[in-house]
Amino acid sequence: MAGKIKHIVITAVLLLVLGLSVSSLFSFESDIPAEVVENIPEIIEPVYEFGLCVDSFKVIKAEIKPNQFLADILLKHHIPYTTIDKLVRETKEVFDVRKIRSGNNYQVFCSNDSLEKAKYFVYQPNLVDYIVFEIGDSTVSAYKGFKEVVLREKTTFGTINSSLYQTLSDADISPKLAVELSNIYAWTVDFYRIQKGDRYKVVYEERVVDGIAIGIGKITAAIFTHWGEDYYAYRFDQNEQEDYFDENGNSLRKAFLKAPLKFSRISSGYTLKRYHPVQKRNKPHYGTDYAAPKGTPIMAVGDGIIIASSYSKYNGNFVKVKHNSTFMTQYLHMSKRNCKVGNHVRQGDIIGYVGSTGLATGPHVCFRFWKNGKQVDHLKEKFPPSLPIEKTYKAEYEKLKAKLKNKLDTIDNKETGIS
Ligand SMILES: [Zn+2]
Repeated sequence: MAGKIKHIVITAVLLLVLGLSVSSLFSFESDIPAEVVENIPEIIEPVYEFGLCVDSFKVIKAEIKPNQFLADILLKHHIPYTTIDKLVRETKEVFDVRKIRSGNNYQVFCSNDSLEKAKYFVYQPNLVDYIVFEIGDSTVSAYKGFKEVVLREKTTFGTINSSLYQTLSDADISPKLAVELSNIYAWTVDFYRIQKGDRYKVVYEERVVDGIAIGIGKITAAIFTHWGEDYYAYRFDQNEQEDYFDENGNSLRKAFLKAPLKFSRISSGYTLKRYHPVQKRNKPHYGTDYAAPKGTPIMAVGDGIIIASSYSKYNGNFVKVKHNSTFMTQYLHMSKRNCKVGNHVRQGDIIGYVGSTGLATGPHVCFRFWKNGKQVDHLKEKFPPSLPIEKTYKAEYEKLKAKLKNKLDTIDNKETGIS
């Protein structure tokens, strides 16, 4: 009995082994139909662009050439002049074809037959917007549309060797990021006294259309190390007002901009005694001179009202802004003034342009800062930050801050580059 069971077990095992090897032998064959199945073409999803089914047409893509008109393009694609004329007239409300500019992209959707007659003409004034002209046999029409802009998170870091602008452009990053950074840090980092070795790390948005980067969006978070000190900035929406806040939830904005120009250098600081290059004698200099090319826009450093906009022998074209009962600012030697007495200005508004009118050796703006009727050195003044994170937003802000801080801290900042 035991022997019989043993025999059955052995037979079963043998059969099992045999069965496995047989099935593995056949599995080679059974793989073949599997591969064939995989080779059966999948159902192709129709591709749409500009709301048109791309696959049903022969699509011609090109750039508008200099002096090329819509008629030149459409005549080539078998559209008679009378239809073109009708199209131009009847779609004028949607888009005036005289606004078509050389260098911009266009696409012609032609019939997918031997005629290759234009059915649609698509004009792209930029990478986002487009206008579709429908060219029917009896009717014509047009509509406008725009491509979806996707925001992609990017990070960058660097060490400044010359200027922030130069460092970013060396790293092949849009100068817009330098402008954005200088706006965020206008109240905390003195970009005119930037030190070699100052560092930055930035998390920012890149705008992407059809997988192609078309520009820079907003900065999400940043850290700027200036004279050895770290300045964090986190973007946060508080009461539907976006602002940048520091580690402690204080706004990075202060009452005034550090300087009336975006990019320049201090050519002469505030001093009680200096040798005047034109008058050739020692006299106090109650302002800060910012040298910049003629025509550089001069910004009001804070909100205020224009109390003087005129010309004098020494000051040349000058403007004076009253910000509040304590502070006034004055801007001298302008090539041109851009405001009138009584105008209300907002911080950053362009009130004039750099020049060398009056007593000046070269193009610069002499910036004067008045506190309680006295001219003081604005670079030595300390201003309180504007509205901090409110109590109700504190927890939300802390959570966002922790996430972004971790992101910033993990960016490798040994050299300039994109990660
Ligand atoms: Zn001066």
